[in-house]
Amino acid sequence: MEFFEFVTPKEALQTIEANIDLKKKTEKINVTKGLDRVVAFDVLAAEDLPAFTKSTMDGYAIQAGDTFGASEQTPQTLDIIGEVEMGVRPNLELKAGQAVEIPTGGMLPDGADAVVMIERVETKADEVKVYTSVSPGANIVRKGSDILQGEVVVSAGHCLRPQDIGALAGLGITEIEAYKKPKVGIISTGNELISLGEELNPSQTRDINTYSLTSLVEELGAIPIQGGIIEDSNKALKQAVDELAPQVDFLLISGGSSVGARDVTYEVLEELGTEDVLIHGIAIKPGKPTLFTMLDELPVYGLPGHPVSVMVTFNKFVAPYINQKMGVIKPPSTVKAEFSQNISSDPGREDYLRVTVEKENNNLIARPVRGESSLIMTMVEADGLVRVPLSREGLTAGEEVKVELF
Ligand code: AMP
Ligand code: MG
Repeated sequence: MEFFEFVTPKEALQTIEANIDLKKKTEKINVTKGLDRVVAFDVLAAEDLPAFTKSTMDGYAIQAGDTFGASEQTPQTLDIIGEVEMGVRPNLELKAGQAVEIPTGGMLPDGADAVVMIERVETKADEVKVYTSVSPGANIVRKGSDILQGEVVVSAGHCLRPQDIGALAGLGITEIEAYKKPKVGIISTGNELISLGEELNPSQTRDINTYSLTSLVEELGAIPIQGGIIEDSNKALKQAVDELAPQVDFLLISGGSSVGARDVTYEVLEELGTEDVLIHGIAIKPGKPTLFTMLDELPVYGLPGHPVSVMVTFNKFVAPYINQKMGVIKPPSTVKAEFSQNISSDPGREDYLRVTVEKENNNLIARPVRGESSLIMTMVEADGLVRVPLSREGLTAGEEVKVELF
């Protein structure tokens, strides 16, 4: 087999983008399941909200004109002609000199144009004394003042938040068209691997990548489909890929992506594909033995087996495209921090350092977590990643760095 032909991370991203189909698919979803989903088309209000003019206070519906000049010293007396019940259209029409008792949220009767709050009146039998003047529109919210029928509730491309779901429900909208969640197939390879729950013999390794990748995919809002642990054999991997490929929009195979005798991912992808494997090694650390190719329409990644490398390469080379397929525009959340020490890095390679971020004397300090990419605890201890660009030979103590937070 030929040795790695490295490309830079930038070239790798360009190759992926040039080959992957980023057209978004849409589907009808129930609004109640809409949190974090991206709306595919503008959603219009089919009715006014509120659907009727309502009181925002407990009090009396009146004509504002009847209260002009009213004060503590000179109250105006009005006739009470009835009462509004919650959820019921009042069957009366209010005229000058009249008042109707109304609860908060009650429907304003015809003829009324304001509400005077209960605290500013005194009632005696079927009369009410109003001790304040109110202006037209006081203490009411008009039909359609929240949103009018035909107006846009949420626009295409909007990612639904709890308040959006509330507004859609308030408008009686039960279904919307959203971008589909891609399905992401996840295969772990390695004769040494065992699944969670199995008993460990010496020299075996518990599968980490299936679970961290599953969670990474879920975190993005996509759908993981686990293909399990596959032994290091051409035949077994081919069969696993054949089985999973028709079900998914992305396929991730971790382990076996390097050039060892037991590493069969490259060979399998080469044989299954109609073209040569498109990416065969990236100048990045951790994550050098990363493969990418297309099997017909399906983007397939051979990701490194080391648990840290697989997460770093997923975030850099897979996650952005899963997000794009779902219409999610998510800039990574970053903080600026002061780097704690001098550290060297090979030029010609992009390094990702795991760091902790801590506040010291009002400064944020980013401190590298030491340890190889085979050590998952370096990720557990870390708060984020700092990128050392290809052109740099390291970082210096005190320099400002951008930390991509997990
Ligand atoms: P490989 O990329 O297959 O050469 O694997 C590199 C290292 O990562 C080896 O020590 C493997 O045992 C380990 N490894 C590979 N896949 C996994 C996995 N799914 N979970 C935990 N460790 C793994
Ligand atoms: Mg292996």
